[in-house]
Amino acid sequence: MAEVMERRRVSVRGVVQGVGFRPFVYLQARELGLAGFVGNNAHGVFIEVEGTAEDIDGFIERIHSDSPPLSQIDGISQHLIPALGETEFVIAPSTQGEMARNALVSPDSAVCGDCLREMLSPEDRRFAYPFINCTNCGPRFTITRDVPYDRANTTMARFALCQECAHEYGDPGDRRFHAQPNACPACGPRVEFHDFTSCVPAGRAGPPGGSAAFCQAADVLGRGGVIGVKGIGGFHLVCDATDDAAVVKLRRHKDREAKPLAVMVADIASAEELCHVSEEEAALLQSSARPIVLLRRRDQAMVSSAVAPDTSALGVMLAYTPLHHLLLAAHRSASGGDRRSTLVMTSANSSDDPIVYRDEEALRLLEHVADGALLHDRDIHMRCDDSLVRVHQGRRQVLRRARGYAPAPLKLAFSSPVPLLAYGAHNKNTFCLVKSDDAFISHHIGALRSPGTLKSLRETVQHYQQLFGVTPQVAVHDYHPQYQSTRLALQSDVPVKMSVQHHEAHIASVIAEHGIDGPVIGVAADGAGYGPDGTIWGGEFLIGDLTSFSRFAYLEPVSLPGGDSSVKRPWMLGVVHMENAFGTEFAALPVQFTKSLDTASLERLGRVAHDPRLSPRTSSMGRLFDAVSAILGLSSEIHYEGQAAILLEEQAWRFRNGTRGGRMSAPVKPFAVEVNASGGPIQLGPLIRDLVDDLVDGRPEEEVAFRFHLSVAELIVAACEAARRQSGIQQVALSGGVFQNTLLLDMVANGLQRHSFSVFTNEKVPPNDGGLSLGQAAIAASRLRSIRAVQ
Ligand SMILES: [Zn+2]
Ligand SMILES: [Zn+2]
Ligand SMILES: [Zn+2]
Repeated sequence: MAEVMERRRVSVRGVVQGVGFRPFVYLQARELGLAGFVGNNAHGVFIEVEGTAEDIDGFIERIHSDSPPLSQIDGISQHLIPALGETEFVIAPSTQGEMARNALVSPDSAVCGDCLREMLSPEDRRFAYPFINCTNCGPRFTITRDVPYDRANTTMARFALCQECAHEYGDPGDRRFHAQPNACPACGPRVEFHDFTSCVPAGRAGPPGGSAAFCQAADVLGRGGVIGVKGIGGFHLVCDATDDAAVVKLRRHKDREAKPLAVMVADIASAEELCHVSEEEAALLQSSARPIVLLRRRDQAMVSSAVAPDTSALGVMLAYTPLHHLLLAAHRSASGGDRRSTLVMTSANSSDDPIVYRDEEALRLLEHVADGALLHDRDIHMRCDDSLVRVHQGRRQVLRRARGYAPAPLKLAFSSPVPLLAYGAHNKNTFCLVKSDDAFISHHIGALRSPGTLKSLRETVQHYQQLFGVTPQVAVHDYHPQYQSTRLALQSDVPVKMSVQHHEAHIASVIAEHGIDGPVIGVAADGAGYGPDGTIWGGEFLIGDLTSFSRFAYLEPVSLPGGDSSVKRPWMLGVVHMENAFGTEFAALPVQFTKSLDTASLERLGRVAHDPRLSPRTSSMGRLFDAVSAILGLSSEIHYEGQAAILLEEQAWRFRNGTRGGRMSAPVKPFAVEVNASGGPIQLGPLIRDLVDDLVDGRPEEEVAFRFHLSVAELIVAACEAARRQSGIQQVALSGGVFQNTLLLDMVANGLQRHSFSVFTNEKVPPNDGGLSLGQAAIAASRLRSIRAVQ
C-alpha cells in the first residue's frame, strides 16, 4: 500500500541567511528522501517539503537540533498545503521585493578550522590565499549592502566566480555551496602592500597568494615600523607589540598617550604565553565572534610595557581573518621563527573620527601615520570595530559590542506595539531599532564628538532601517539637550518623540537583557547623566520597572567645577570632595595631595566651583572615584576617559592580591558610611574624612584604595537594604560605567547575595553608555504598550 504523502510550507525566522542554511536544509531533505524546495526571501528561509508525515516531522526536528553553527533560529512555522507528487528536492533562487524584511543578516565570523587547514596545505588551490572562506565562516555583515543576503547584494558582486569556484558554489554537496563570498586566487580579491618608505612604486600586485605583500609587511614590522592593515570592518594600525620603540612610535602617530592598546596573536597557546586564560576566556577567544578579551597579564609576558602602562589587564584577540593568520606567520618567520608573533592592533582613525574603512580615506591617513599599508580590493560596506569583552566570575561582560555580535538582535520579553528607534547616548554611542520583539542594537558607533562620527551614525541608522525593513514611528532620546544623539532624534522626521532619563535607561538595559519580571532596585553607578532636576546624576538608587522609576537615594551632590571640563582634571574633584568633608581648612591637612596644590589654581577653582552658573551639582559615582584617585596622588590630570578610576582600581587589586607581602591577614574594615532608612542624599563627608585619616597615618595607597572600594560596596549594599525595607523588592539591577570596575562589582554582587538579594548585571550589552540605547528602547516600548492598553 502506498504511503500517504503530504506537503507542508515551512518558514524559518532568525539568523538563517549567509550561514549555510539552505544547503543544510537541502542535505537533510535529500537524506530523508523528501521532495520540494528551499529558498531565501526577505523574511528568512522558506521551504516546501513533501513526504510522509513522519519523515517531515523528523526533518523539522533536525532543522531545530542540527542547524549550522552560525545560524540562530527564532521561530519555525508550518502549515499543510496540497501535495504535488514531486520527487526532487531543489534549492530555489532568491526572491526580492517583499513588503517586509525580516531576514536577519548574520554577524561576521572568524575563519573556520577547515578553511585554515586548506590555507596551510601546499597542495590546496587556496594555499596561502588570504580570502579563503566557506559556508561556515567569513565576512557577512560588513560586506552586505542589502537583503536578501546574496552575492549580488554584497561587495563581492564585482568578482565573477571562476569555473571551479562556480562549481563549488552550485554543488549542494560542497562545503562552499552558496557561500556568497566564495573566492580563490584565480577569481577573488587580492592583497597588496604599499611601502611609504621606499621608492618602489606603490600598489605592485604580488603573486596571487599575496606572499610577497606579506613578506614586505613583515619586513617593515621587523624594522620597528608601523603599518596599516585592512581587515573586516576597517583598518588597523599595527606594530610589533614586543618592540618598545615601535609601540611608542605608534602611540605618537595615533596621538594616544596612555590608553591601553589591544594585541593580536595567532592562537590560544600564544595567548596563554602572555596571560592567564580560564576555560571560559579560552572559549570566548576562540568563538566565531573573536572579540578582544581582557585578560590578566603574566608577570613575565613578552609584551612592551608601553602597550597598557596603567593596568595589569591586557586586551588580546586571536587572528580572525585568513589575512591576519598569514601576516602573523610572515612576521614570525621574518623574526627567526622561534618566537610567536604578537602584534599591536588598534583602529586606524584620525582624532575623534571613527575607524577608517575606505581605501582612499585610509591611504590619506596612513601616509602620515604609518610606514606602509597592507591593502586588498574587497570593499568594506559597513565599518565595524573589534568587540571588547571580559569574563568575570564566569559571566561575560561586554564592554564594546561590535564585530562578531552586531547586527544580531536581542529578544525583548514583549513586543513593541510600533517600530521605534532609540538614539542612545553621546559617548560610546549605539542606537537600537525595535521591531516587534527584536531589538537590533547597532555596533559601537563611538563618541559623537566629530562630524565624522555623526555622519557614521546617520548612515548606519539608514543602513539598519533598510536591512531590517524598519520605519520607526517613535524616536527615543536622552534628557540631555546637548547630546548630539538627542539633537538628531529631535531633528528626525520620525513623527513621535519620547525622552528617557539616562540612569533609568541604564537600569532598563539590565531588565531588558534578562527579561526581569516585576520591579527592581536599580543601582546606577555612572559617570554622568542629565537628571530631571537639572543636576548631573550618576550615583543613583532607583526603584521601579520599565514603565516608571522613582529615585530612592543618591550620592550627596557636590560641585562639578566648570562642568565637563573637570572630568579631565581629577585634582579639581579631589579639592571639591576635600572641601565638602573638611571645609576650607582642608588645605592645611598634612597629606601629599594638599601640598601639591598651588594657591593660585586653588583660588581660581574656588571661584568657579562656587558659581552655580559655571558649575552644576552632581551625584556622580564616577566623579567620586576620580576625586579619590586624585586625593591618593594617583592622577591629577588624565589622558583618556576612565584613567583615574583605572589607576585607583589597579592599586586596590594590588592590595587585594597581596603582591606586596600578604597584608590581608588582618581584615580590612570599610570607612564610615551611613544611609538613611528613608533614602535621600547619602553624605560622603564621613567617608572622605576617614580616608584622609588613613593617609595622615601613613597607610599605603594600595590599602586605602582597597578600603575605599570596600566602603563604596558597603554603601551600595546598605542603600539596597534600605530600599528593600521600604519596598519589599528583592531584585537588584546593577548598571552604569563604574561597574566596569570588576573589584567593585565583585564586592557589591557578593555583598548583595550575602543579604539574599537576586543580583542582575549587564552581560550582552555594555554597562557603560554603549548599552543605553537598549534601555531607552525597552522603556519606550513598555510605555507605548501601557498607553495602548489604556486606550
Ligand atoms: Zn570556513
Ligand atoms: Zn575562483
Ligand atoms: Zn551613563
